[in-house]
Amino acid sequence: MTETMPWVTEAWESVETRYRIKSVLYEQKTDFQHMMLVDSHAYGKMLLLDGFVQTTERDEFFYHEMMAHVPVLAHPNPENVLIIGGGDGGVLREVLKHSGVKKATVVEIDPAVVDFSKKFLPGISSGAFDDPRTRLVFDDGARFVKNTQNRYDVVIVDSSDPVGPAQILFSAGFYRDLSGIMNPEGIMTRQTGSLQMQPGEQKQAGDLLKVLFTHVAFYVFTVPTYIGGLFSTVFCSNAVDPETPGYEELNKKVTDTGLSTRYYNAGIHKGAFHIPNFFRERLS
Ligand code: SAM
Repeated sequence: MTETMPWVTEAWESVETRYRIKSVLYEQKTDFQHMMLVDSHAYGKMLLLDGFVQTTERDEFFYHEMMAHVPVLAHPNPENVLIIGGGDGGVLREVLKHSGVKKATVVEIDPAVVDFSKKFLPGISSGAFDDPRTRLVFDDGARFVKNTQNRYDVVIVDSSDPVGPAQILFSAGFYRDLSGIMNPEGIMTRQTGSLQMQPGEQKQAGDLLKVLFTHVAFYVFTVPTYIGGLFSTVFCSNAVDPETPGYEELNKKVTDTGLSTRYYNAGIHKGAFHIPNFFRERLS
């Protein structure tokens, strides 16, 4: 009798991906979502929210580095950073690598994700929540953005997909409120999903954001456990053209910062904005 190997399945409408697991380490229905942590053979510990992979020990850095360093290094003087979502602490960890950042505010709706990530996935936040520059707020990102009197240099929306509590973070009202809390040279980035699995998300976001920002540009990269190939993020600013800084200047910034990364580098940064023709046509 073949051993029944336990698997966890991420189920899309017409695609399923299975990951063989050693065990389910934790499972909880929080006030906001279903949260599960498994120990997978291929990717180590893996966090799923409402059945979708959010982050894994072995490929989290692809995503967290690209979400953090592209806007922070494109900004001339990023001091005040806002992260919406990001309860696992991965984007926060990367943002805090930049000594010029004086404050990083994380607005996470579900305290259980932070508690749980600190306890079971400590390597992802890697102490970032205890950094004196960190301010952790448990609130709906949409409500926070509507009410805050603060202004930000970089805003990173590291939310789950547009289902459940994150749905409002893909709305026109949220983007409008976001545009109102950014400093003049502010940059906002937000994940806009898989080009293959979520083909409608990018144009929808782009059309809403073009009304609010002078520069709206997508950049793409891969994250092995975000299935379907290229994953997308949108970069928005009224002052900073995503074409700047050029490669030489950017590479100097990376070197001068002494930035230590495993995926991100200046070439990857510049290359990521050169999107495939089919994607360009989809956006037009
Ligand atoms: N890297 C993941 C991705 O690309 O799908 C996202 C990681 S992070 C775990 C996503 C976080 O967004 C979750 O912790 C979730 O609780 C949080 N979130 C969802 N809706 C939110 C909202 N309205 N306000 C603040 N945080 C929210």
